[in-house]
Amino acid sequence: MNKFSSIFENRHDYARDWKKRSGGKVLGYYCTYFPEEVAYAAGILPVRILAKHFPDDTTDRLMYGNCYVTRDMFNQFNLGHYDYIDGLVCLESCQWWYNAFDVTMQVFPNLWSHYLFTPDYPDGNRSKDVLRSELSVIQKKFEEWTGKTVTDAELDNAIEIYNTNRRLLRRLYELRRFNNPVILGSEAMEIMLANQVMDKAEANKMLEELIPELEDRAPGEDRVRFILIGSETYDAELEKLIEGVGGNVVIDDLDNGSGYVWNEVVPLKDRLMAIGLRYLGKPHSALKDNVWRRRPEQIFRLSEDFQVDAAIIAKQIYCHPHGTDMYAVWKLLQERKIPYHTFERDTTLPYEETRLGVEALIHVAKQGMTRANGWS
Ligand code: SF4
Repeated sequence: MNKFSSIFENRHDYARDWKKRSGGKVLGYYCTYFPEEVAYAAGILPVRILAKHFPDDTTDRLMYGNCYVTRDMFNQFNLGHYDYIDGLVCLESCQWWYNAFDVTMQVFPNLWSHYLFTPDYPDGNRSKDVLRSELSVIQKKFEEWTGKTVTDAELDNAIEIYNTNRRLLRRLYELRRFNNPVILGSEAMEIMLANQVMDKAEANKMLEELIPELEDRAPGEDRVRFILIGSETYDAELEKLIEGVGGNVVIDDLDNGSGYVWNEVVPLKDRLMAIGLRYLGKPHSALKDNVWRRRPEQIFRLSEDFQVDAAIIAKQIYCHPHGTDMYAVWKLLQERKIPYHTFERDTTLPYEETRLGVEALIHVAKQGMTRANGWS
């Protein structure tokens, strides 16, 4: 357990060490739709750029109006925390991610970079061919960058390692379905986040050791069960706050939580098509849940499967994708009689205000106003 927490805390040192050991390149990415398997097959370590708050005296001038998450990502480059990153990839995702990429490239023009178009309508009938074509372009770019040709065997190996990683992390989620789960939401989130900055072959070995240890743990306390919904997260502070007042996040619908592991690549002879189909078929992020809405159904299903009592919606200030998606989530929660608390995060967690909201929600949930009444 502590191994993952320590890698998460010291993630920059982990990546620097990986570079020294492997001689490979490190590629930063922002968005959950990045097809990591293609980079991994080329011997590149994909690292998710995650926010962490540090004093900042530049982004007001360069990124005024961006969400804090993206301002902080640039700030960390500026402070030299990401000095080991060799390249950056930007996807068709929210405007603030694009702006973070753009500003970073203006200030650090020597970074290798690529813009990968990922279809805005994952369910569109042309989307799979468009993404397949984009993946073949980025594969060639990786080959030119590394001087190495990516073989089918290397793509198969990357697919297998990533699928194994998803399966192992799904086992952690399954442990949280039990009454009195043996793992707390904060512990699980630190594992999820550490995993996203790690070499998946190494993460898999650690997970294979950790899961049996968790299964041998005594059952945890009886706590009010929450689903966490909203903008992507970058630490486990909110989960810890909820645990401090008697709750437990047993499931999430976050892009860098369950959305990262919920489906696998189904192997096909056309490897790039297989990879593309996995990303198009993953649980929709808020930005891409546009024409055919899948998120309300997915959120309800997770709530039901994980027997939640209440929902917390944590939206980042200035996060347009989750701001515009909110009405559909509220409607679902109201229809299904799931009590919820919505709040906005800025540079840091608004601790007291959030604690009061969570305590009130726990009070409501304990009155049996939710599952006990049945969902229609
Ligand atoms: S928090 Fe919202 S606006 Fe900010 S990068 Fe994430 S999706 Fe985009």
